[in-house]
Amino acid sequence: MSAGRFAPSPSGDLHIGNLRTAVLAWLFARGTGRRFLLRVEDLDQGRSGAEAEARQLQDLRELGLDWDGEVVRQSDRADTYAAALERLTEEGRTYPCFCSRREIREATRAPHAPPGSYPGTCRDLDPAERDRRATGRPPAIRLRAEVDSWSATDLVLGELAGPVDDLVLRRGDGTAAYHLAVAVDDADQGIDQVVRGDDLVGSTPGQAHLAHLLDLPAPTYAHVPLAVNVQGQRLAKRDGAVTAADLRALGLDPLALIAASLGLAGDLPRLLRDFDPAALPREPWVFRTP
Ligand code: GLU
Repeated sequence: MSAGRFAPSPSGDLHIGNLRTAVLAWLFARGTGRRFLLRVEDLDQGRSGAEAEARQLQDLRELGLDWDGEVVRQSDRADTYAAALERLTEEGRTYPCFCSRREIREATRAPHAPPGSYPGTCRDLDPAERDRRATGRPPAIRLRAEVDSWSATDLVLGELAGPVDDLVLRRGDGTAAYHLAVAVDDADQGIDQVVRGDDLVGSTPGQAHLAHLLDLPAPTYAHVPLAVNVQGQRLAKRDGAVTAADLRALGLDPLALIAASLGLAGDLPRLLRDFDPAALPREPWVFRTP
């Protein structure tokens, strides 16, 4: 059965921009008769994210959002990610990477390579050099990408084509990397509609390509504009009253603010009735902190 989802990272409280993305994901899913699932992306936090997670879920409930089934946590799914990585490795699609961040930053790249992409240093190390480097800290595992680009369908932005890099699949500390986890989780959870902030547009070709390599169905995406402060920078905690609790303390209703940002008004059932994905504002939402 088809499903949409919201997938927060429990790194702190959700701000009004994150809450708006959650409401949009819920509206897209419920408005198309889909299940709506929650996944906690706690690869970085593990159980130390538990308190932030509890507050995030409470904020979502207080907005009136509901979800189906149990909340899935990435920190519980290491075996599943390991199995996906093993499959790619058996197919010859991975290699160990011994580079530090600094080495990657300072390496020279081919003239056409996208900025920040992996320069390929460890891709074709000869076995002796690989053995020599293997004596240091444990390597990351990277995808041996065989395509330069991949594309995915986005309901808001149209066809999303972009570069595919030699993505990290497992970090040096043994944790699955975000792109692999997302591709595997979305498919395992039956998610065929991914609504998320447009800061993740650049991750999409790589994630969709990983799904393809693992024979997983590609979801349809809808990347929605982020909330920004009056300077046009991505909204952040330091901007002041931005969490649901902050706003309620000032007598403001977070859902009403979100609805107004979409040109709508009323409670969630009313928003569901009136929401038209085609009318979604394409510009960032400028949030004036009260
Ligand atoms: N966990 C990511 C975030 O909080 C979202 C990832 C996604 O929606 O695919 O930014």
